[in-house]
Amino acid sequence: MSNYDLGDSKVLHIGFDDTDSYSGRCTTNLAFKITSKLLSENDSVFIDYPLLVRLNPNIPWKTRGNGGVCLRIRTNQSEKILDYLIKIVKTDSDIGNGANPGLAIFESDTIPLSLRQFSSRAMYDVLKVQEAEKLASDLSIQVFKYGDGRGIIGAMASIGSLLEGDHTYEAIAYRKKEFQGSPRILNKSRVSKISIETHPFTFNSLDSFHERILIAPHGPDPVFCGIRGEDPYIVTKALLYVLPVEKLEGFMVFRTNQGTSTHLQNQLSLKKIRSNMAGYVRCKVSKKPIILRGGHVLFEVSDFSNSKFPVAVYEPTGLGSIASKLIEGDNIDIGIGVSKNDSHNSSILNVEYLSVLKTMDDTVWINPMCNNCGMRMKSEGKNKGFQCKICGRKKDSKLLVTKNRNLQLGMYLPYLKAHRHLTKPLHRYGMEKTYPYIPDFFKPLHSEWFKLF
Ligand code: ATP
Repeated sequence: MSNYDLGDSKVLHIGFDDTDSYSGRCTTNLAFKITSKLLSENDSVFIDYPLLVRLNPNIPWKTRGNGGVCLRIRTNQSEKILDYLIKIVKTDSDIGNGANPGLAIFESDTIPLSLRQFSSRAMYDVLKVQEAEKLASDLSIQVFKYGDGRGIIGAMASIGSLLEGDHTYEAIAYRKKEFQGSPRILNKSRVSKISIETHPFTFNSLDSFHERILIAPHGPDPVFCGIRGEDPYIVTKALLYVLPVEKLEGFMVFRTNQGTSTHLQNQLSLKKIRSNMAGYVRCKVSKKPIILRGGHVLFEVSDFSNSKFPVAVYEPTGLGSIASKLIEGDNIDIGIGVSKNDSHNSSILNVEYLSVLKTMDDTVWINPMCNNCGMRMKSEGKNKGFQCKICGRKKDSKLLVTKNRNLQLGMYLPYLKAHRHLTKPLHRYGMEKTYPYIPDFFKPLHSEWFKLF
């Protein structure tokens, strides 16, 4: 896989997205298939792990996790590979069922700043196909679009995403066609064992609180399961340990931005909020929470721009019990996705995390106590003071009491089962990778990153 004679070779960045639909297929599976072909032809070297780049999760037209893929290779067969890619993206996409595939191919040793910025914005904003096309033309990126062409947004954004700082890995195993659609049988005790023994170097494999396996999807798609973690070698080992009796097609390791909360790193001003954006807002509670039927919690916030927005904390996140303790004036950060509140023709902020920064004293005026009898005094009427009904002693004014808020400052995350692919698990705070990731052009990736069974 590594030491071919690649004289006159070029670096190709191959991005694609939107190849699947609700009825089936999967963009990462297409990546697996393409990778298999490229490796078998012996004319390409992978200069980075295949990238699985999760983009803005609030895009309404996504199928599932809004993931695009980028393959970075060095090859001396770029023409031949281009022909193959154009064919396979067309034939292996679910175009008839709503997929709008996009393919982007960029021949370059470096990734220009404008493409990196496009990619950063795709994490939290809503971009247009025309903008992707204009950038492609400016940078001489070849793009091929099908259906409504939306797929080129994710294709280009995946190429522009270097995942230079924080990143994670996922080893994904794929099913054979004949098994797709049948239930996935996994050994729960093996999943539990890797979840405990490889912690914190693998994550989100098991929700032990709800007793739920989190490594396998439930739909008819070709993914059997995936193990997420910090290191390509560890996720591979853990995956091999949980593999089922079912005969699989193979597996591949992706480098990804999953578990990094990249989409929430951008601070948003409430004044500039638009539907479907992601980010975080530093704000004050301006209307105290109400608990709706079903356990959802609704409150209102305002920020330095003095704009106000309703905020929703949905019951499945498990954050309702904390949110319901907020009071007016509390300072909070909230990671949010903005959705349209159709009935009011306005936007609503859906909470992805809640960080309590500063709490107000929650005070209440109560009748004073009698120092002699230890009993609460009775009011004598408006502005007439208070009297103890036992000993007759008097006091003029009420007592200001500070209630116990029973709310600790700090970061609160949803239950594991309500995490998005991008959500950074609590234990990853402080263990983010901050060093630059430098793909090594002439060294192979770890030997077991791709396997056909
Ligand atoms: P899967 O995760 O199963 O591959 P998906 O959830 O990624 O599916 P897609 O079918 O790829 O969903 O649909 C997402 C669509 O949204 C793609 O066409 C992609 O190009 C586009 N898209 C991604 N990010 C943005 C963005 N920030 N602005 C506008 N469009 C976007």
